[in-house]
Amino acid sequence: MASSSALTSAPRTLKTAKIKITTKCNRHCDFCIFAEGGQGENMPIDTFIQVLDRLDQIPFRQLHINGGEPTVHRDFVRLSGLARERFPDHVMVLGSNAITLARNERLLEATLTHYDQVLIGCDEEHENYDEVRAVVPVLRKAGKTVVINSVLEAIAPDRLAQLAALCDEYGAIHVTNHVHHIDVGQPTNDLGGLCDRNVDQHLMIEVDGDCYRCFNAMAKNDSEFTVWDAGFAAKVFAPRREHYDFCLKCHEYKDSGLQVVPAPAVPAHRTASV
Ligand code: SF4
Repeated sequence: MASSSALTSAPRTLKTAKIKITTKCNRHCDFCIFAEGGQGENMPIDTFIQVLDRLDQIPFRQLHINGGEPTVHRDFVRLSGLARERFPDHVMVLGSNAITLARNERLLEATLTHYDQVLIGCDEEHENYDEVRAVVPVLRKAGKTVVINSVLEAIAPDRLAQLAALCDEYGAIHVTNHVHHIDVGQPTNDLGGLCDRNVDQHLMIEVDGDCYRCFNAMAKNDSEFTVWDAGFAAKVFAPRREHYDFCLKCHEYKDSGLQVVPAPAVPAHRTASV
């Protein structure tokens, strides 16, 4: 039986776990620091299974499969099936530029079978307007949530309007963003406290198992631990005490006002009634 002190600690659940299954990509977007074109590396299937084993140790809600461009991984179909099989009740999210989905029926079928949501980057850099136009109606007809994300520094106003109209027509969601993970001359953030996104938000796992508790942080020196570490599950939920290198120039910095971001405290009366 749980003690009363145990009841006062918050149940910790990570919002999103993201596995970058490849650093290969079929595009070469100028602003992208996550991919290396055709020169990239695929996560071996055995490693992917081990990563799923590790994720099985922590509570989380959504599993994102990303890259690079994840659909160019030669085992994309199998990996997607394995993840869905392991986490049947989690929301499965694919991050893609949709280019291969529009051209390869097998990959599109696997996406329809295994994923709940598809997030598609679309702008001049991705150069994928035709493919997005082809794929969005199919995904929406199958009931998938579709989010189109355009980088404002890389899209002309008429293209932006066309995408908004497409999303409107098919019930997809259109969001815009700034290039947030690199220095594009924006003013430096005044880092008064640690970013509140540090708490129970995102865990990004790289091809080699390096972990970052933020989707935007991705310099090797920002890696905090690896999926292979003993105590991996505890490290995911440990308090954060330092900024990442990327925080200084990140458009998404949200000041928590705290120098150490701890586990969120939950009042005893909330847990006691559960
Ligand atoms: S400021 Fe940006 S890079 Fe730093 S933790 Fe927040 S979202 Fe991540």
